[in-house]
Amino acid sequence: MNYEESFKKIEEKWQKSWEQKKAFQPAIEKPKKKLFITVPYPYTSGPLHIGHGRTYTIADVYVRFQRMQGQNVLWPMAFHITGTPILAVSRRIEQADKEAVKTYEEYISLYEKDKKKAKKILDSFIEPQKVADFFSDVIIHDFKSLGFSIDWSRKFTTGDLEYNKFIEWQFHRLRDLDLITKGTHPVLYCVNDKNAVGEDDIQNGDTIEPGIEEYTIIKFKFQDSYIIAATLMPHTIFGATNIFVNPNTAYYKFKVQNEIWIGSKEFFEKLSYQGKNVEKIKTISGFDLIGKNCVAPLTGKELQILPAEFPNPDIGSGIVYSVPAHSIADYAALEDLKKNENLVKKYNMNYSVVQKIAPISVVKTPELGEVPARDLYNKFGIKNQMDEKLPDATKELYSKEFHFGVMLNNSGDFSEMKVSEARESVKKKLLELNLADNFHEVTALELPVMCRCGGKVVVSLLKDQWYINYGDEGWKENTRNCLNKMLILPQMYKPLFESTINWLHERACARMRGLGTKLPWDERWIIESLSDSTIYMAFYTVINLIRTNKIKPEQLTRKFWDYVFLGAHSSKEIAQETKIKDKVLNEIHESFEYWYPNDLRHTAVGHITNHLTFFIFNHVALFPEKYWPKSITLNEFLIREGAKMSKSKGNDVPLDEIPRTYGADLYRLYIVSGANLEAVVDWTEKNVLSAQKRLNRLYELSDEIIKHKTQSAGRKATTIDLWLKSRFNSMLKIVTQDLQNFKMRDYSQRAFFEFLNDLGYYYQRSKENINYFLLKKILANWLKILSPLIPHTAEEFWNKLGNKKLISLEKWPALDETAISKEVEISENLILNTHKDVEQIIQLIEKKPKKIMLFAVPSWKYEVYKGTLEGKQIRDFMQNPELKKFGNELVNYYNKLGAKKFELSKEILDSKKELEVLKEAKQFFESSFNCKFEILETEKSTNPKAKIADVMKPGIYLE
Ligand SMILES: [Zn+2]
Repeated sequence: MNYEESFKKIEEKWQKSWEQKKAFQPAIEKPKKKLFITVPYPYTSGPLHIGHGRTYTIADVYVRFQRMQGQNVLWPMAFHITGTPILAVSRRIEQADKEAVKTYEEYISLYEKDKKKAKKILDSFIEPQKVADFFSDVIIHDFKSLGFSIDWSRKFTTGDLEYNKFIEWQFHRLRDLDLITKGTHPVLYCVNDKNAVGEDDIQNGDTIEPGIEEYTIIKFKFQDSYIIAATLMPHTIFGATNIFVNPNTAYYKFKVQNEIWIGSKEFFEKLSYQGKNVEKIKTISGFDLIGKNCVAPLTGKELQILPAEFPNPDIGSGIVYSVPAHSIADYAALEDLKKNENLVKKYNMNYSVVQKIAPISVVKTPELGEVPARDLYNKFGIKNQMDEKLPDATKELYSKEFHFGVMLNNSGDFSEMKVSEARESVKKKLLELNLADNFHEVTALELPVMCRCGGKVVVSLLKDQWYINYGDEGWKENTRNCLNKMLILPQMYKPLFESTINWLHERACARMRGLGTKLPWDERWIIESLSDSTIYMAFYTVINLIRTNKIKPEQLTRKFWDYVFLGAHSSKEIAQETKIKDKVLNEIHESFEYWYPNDLRHTAVGHITNHLTFFIFNHVALFPEKYWPKSITLNEFLIREGAKMSKSKGNDVPLDEIPRTYGADLYRLYIVSGANLEAVVDWTEKNVLSAQKRLNRLYELSDEIIKHKTQSAGRKATTIDLWLKSRFNSMLKIVTQDLQNFKMRDYSQRAFFEFLNDLGYYYQRSKENINYFLLKKILANWLKILSPLIPHTAEEFWNKLGNKKLISLEKWPALDETAISKEVEISENLILNTHKDVEQIIQLIEKKPKKIMLFAVPSWKYEVYKGTLEGKQIRDFMQNPELKKFGNELVNYYNKLGAKKFELSKEILDSKKELEVLKEAKQFFESSFNCKFEILETEKSTNPKAKIADVMKPGIYLE
């Protein structure tokens, strides 16, 4: 039998068996130790791809391992449908949006081959619930066919009425605790939906890192109006030399309260979302502004307006005040202009005036020269103002100046001030003088930022917006305390949690549209998706009982949850209020008490700065300390053939394809053995194939072992038998620790690949004398160790070994510490290496020998070798008359060892043992090389090869 041919049948068979036997639905079993593990519920707007599968696979391996360790493990799963993405899908299908229809046709075709039925499903998607239903079924199907040992009896969606009641309780509690605020705050906002949006709603929101940055917009007096320029570094106003406008941009002249401003059309539009009353007066082309002068605030300096390509109408006001000493783009734009006399003349400007504009330095920074922008312009080899290297160069300059820079003496009241302070002080001064204003801008790695609905995302100041106040200092402090007690793996991520707790502030928690739970005290609002997914782990512990006891949503009152989660009120009182029986209430409360807290949450690294930190915050606020989360483990993502996977690139592999094309066990083996948690795994077809070959080898070996009907030990254990036992137990010892510490790659490499090699070597070495009794025992235990990793394969061969129960529910093998023998493993290395050396010599002389002689190390050499390892000197050896008689030969040998003192292996045998081991392997050597062998004592031989025998390296003579 071979993996490639049989995986489909085998995998389906065992998946069915697990389901029929309800193998992974734990019940409360006191006093058995419980372990409650969660992984974020998937969002149901589309199918998952193999990248998503990595997180769930790692969790499953751990869950299966802990189950075999004797823990009562609960790993449930549910579905997230909150927010606008599913609504957006429905709307786009309804509008027959070509791209959406094509995408969703493809998705459906993965699961429904009948075209008529597929069309019907697509048509049903105009109803959002149908989208959620279809994809949650699809994800269940995918997860089952990957062998995930999930308890599905507790599944729910975040749109279920029971869930709504639970979330209502959460928000009432947060409000009672004074952690909900209302106010006006900048939020990312879709101009189309007229609604605040989160990462989930934004196109590529998970990769482009959308955010909000606070700019200062500065007013430059210009005729009857102000030219407006936005900046992140208002302190550089002292170094302004000119203004840049884009000659190809249409600017607006418009009224703001009682002032007149000039800025790009896009700027004008954005201001209206930020609480400004704006009224357009007229359009002015950039061309018309060029050559004229305006006046800088604070310095009163006249600045000429010059043309440049780089000012982007979409960023700030589309106008830039130029600081060529401290902005590389400004420096580059000025250089471009100075190099182009014709262009300057085209705008009717005086070329000599432009030529005379020189950078004015206002900040001094160690390591940077007098004109830092010019230095970095040269260092990065910037060619012009549109150069692609500009962002990197600018980042370096800004960061250094901000952290280490000091204002020069030409900066008025701000001279000698640190840049980090001056930035705030200059801004404050400008605001006081009404020569500046605050302005919020969308930032992202790719601009413009677009909503999934197709609308542009801007910053809006929302009034009457509800917030969760993650900025509350007392709350932060408790959250830090909880984090300090938590285990975070890999540990390197812990500081990211710490800094997230530090910078988090009020976060908008409700939207005007979307699926989900209504804010209980203001039903115009719906709680958004990162706010209704912070404590749902608690819901898993009770939802099955709510359903089996047929409790209606309206019975799930605030007091009901108070009782279940906090033990508040008496069950009698709650029974009266809710009409739920006393006994049932107790049962539900006990279930929560038994399973909580959530012992481990496993997910991908990307969730730290939002979901995972909110998860800790909310638990800390709502539950007593004994129910706070215990640990979080995180894994990096998966790429394919060296590239990041995405639907838009067309290089994503849907999870659905795995069980058909590769098989679940191959996928699991590859994903888990590819890298430990902190590294990215690359899915390459070539490497997948080589893993498949190894799985095939396991199938062949297992079949071969099982077909031998050995009942008893039959013979005394040989060195190679002892070696196999030792290797197996060493491996068991290490991989048990690996699994406990989430070292998934190390576990799978050792348990699968390395031990498979060991078995192969055992076969080669034992040939006619294979101990099948031993092999069967080892196979049975090995399958247990592999069962978390390749559960279908493990069940199959476990069953073939004659076992009736599931291996998934077996106990982890017991370690036989006494079987681990360093000496046995060293002995076998001696045989293996000697075998290799003989092979090489035969190849070299290119003829078949009649007889081969092996000379074991003489005892005096062993003594000198061992003594050298212990740090003995030549005189120490010479004091020993037994050694002294070897005279010059000993000195030469000692010098030879001294030359490679630090490379000498400590894994050695004494000369007697070495001879014995070689003698025992005589038969193996003879049958392997089909030639007679003689194993000899070096001291009794005059053969020249005897002289070169060394520790763990016998002399070899071919006749
Ligand atoms: Zn939108």
